[in-house]
Amino acid sequence: MTTNKQHHHSHDHHHHPESQWSAKAKAIESLLIEKGIVSSDAISSVVQRYETNIGPMHGAKVIAKAWKDPDFKKRLLEDSETVLRELGYFGLQGEHIKVVENTETVQNVVCCTLCSCYPWPLLGLPPAWYKEPAYRSRIVKEPRKVLKEFGLELSDSTEIRVWDSSAEIRYIVLPQRPSGTENMTEEELAEIVTRDSMIGVAKVEVPMANV
Ligand code: FE
Repeated sequence: MTTNKQHHHSHDHHHHPESQWSAKAKAIESLLIEKGIVSSDAISSVVQRYETNIGPMHGAKVIAKAWKDPDFKKRLLEDSETVLRELGYFGLQGEHIKVVENTETVQNVVCCTLCSCYPWPLLGLPPAWYKEPAYRSRIVKEPRKVLKEFGLELSDSTEIRVWDSSAEIRYIVLPQRPSGTENMTEEELAEIVTRDSMIGVAKVEVPMANV
């Protein structure tokens, strides 16, 4: 097995199961394509599906439940790990997940400055930009500017909290529930919670029909 360049930092406790997995996955992928068993397009579409549908929907369900149920939300914020484990969200890349809450005056945003740690069981695979060195370094140094580039313009009085994920702990943002969603069911709410809102680079928008 080759050495992963991402490991060349001095953070002892920062293990990288994902890089070993991705090296293995790449090897298997190449073999399958070479043998003509699957096309690279088929693999891309599976990855795409995992990135945009399967993963984030889990997180979205948790967020919607927290919006609907104050007791659940309180427990979720106080002891994310236990509550998420009860719901079956744990395992690879999800051993220790903490939920952080946005408010009128606080916007939380998640990154991994060293590599690409991410709460897989709740959000699926990280988007490409999350793994880019530019995002990982700039979100810490100039979060307000980076969020603006994502289309999220915050007032000067909004405090931005940047959470640096690691193998020990990964974060997910509990976005603010938008007004105009009072009559929506938990299932309907889960449908409007986006991946980006749970990373903290976007707000949840009210669907047009409810405006
Ligand atoms: Fe990482």
